[in-house]
Amino acid sequence: MITNKMIPDNLDALRARGRRLTRPRRLILDVVRAADTHPTAAVVYRRVRRRLPRVSLATVYRNLRMLAAEGCLAERAHAGGLRFDGNTGPHDHFTCLVCGRIYDVPARAERGGRRRIAARTGFEVLDHRTEYYGRCGACRRRGRSSVTG
Ligand SMILES: [Zn+2]
Ligand SMILES: [Zn+2]
Repeated sequence: MITNKMIPDNLDALRARGRRLTRPRRLILDVVRAADTHPTAAVVYRRVRRRLPRVSLATVYRNLRMLAAEGCLAERAHAGGLRFDGNTGPHDHFTCLVCGRIYDVPARAERGGRRRIAARTGFEVLDHRTEYYGRCGACRRRGRSSVTG
């Protein structure tokens, strides 16, 4: 499991580019980094609103996209929609098919695999992503096996 402590802080880079880190932006960033299950914009909105009741979903969404464009967050397209990831380092994901949570898992070193693909196809591989699917530990302990349960 990769913890948020390992994430390089890009706030200095943000400030250097002259963007003011407004209260909502700071809060949105904190909420995403504190969550370890890759929240959707709607989930981030609900959590931010607890501390900032006047904030709108549009503001949260716009700031999420902006923070992602600046490299403070990662955006991940998932079956259930766009998810936001506070962990911007290299890692893979495990999606629980029962509860829908998305967990971070350490990235496997795949240099050999990249070389093989390059040799076979002539592609220059710059990045890759591995997605794992199954049942998470909590769901296994509860004996849950149905996706709807
Ligand atoms: Zn689960
Ligand atoms: Zn992640």
